[in-house]
Amino acid sequence: MDKREATVTTAVAPSAASLSAADRCDRCGAQAYLRVELQTGGELLFCAHHAREHGDKLREIAAAVHDETHKLGDTPAVATNGDA
Ligand SMILES: [Zn+2]
Repeated sequence: MDKREATVTTAVAPSAASLSAADRCDRCGAQAYLRVELQTGGELLFCAHHAREHGDKLREIAAAVHDETHKLGDTPAVATNGDA
């Protein structure tokens, strides 16, 4: 298996790119698995938890939704210690 490196010279990430571990949920800071491109031009990132929580509403206001929550499989996204 050869590792495919992304183009290192590119500073600006194309919006169609996959989410990486560097992408963080705007709500809680966990790794993001859902990117929502808003009709207004903005962009939001959500972890699997918040993607599920806000998913329906997000799809109403989104121009495009990039969903990678399937990557998680059965593994819990975040081990939250009781967020009251
Ligand atoms: Zn979150």
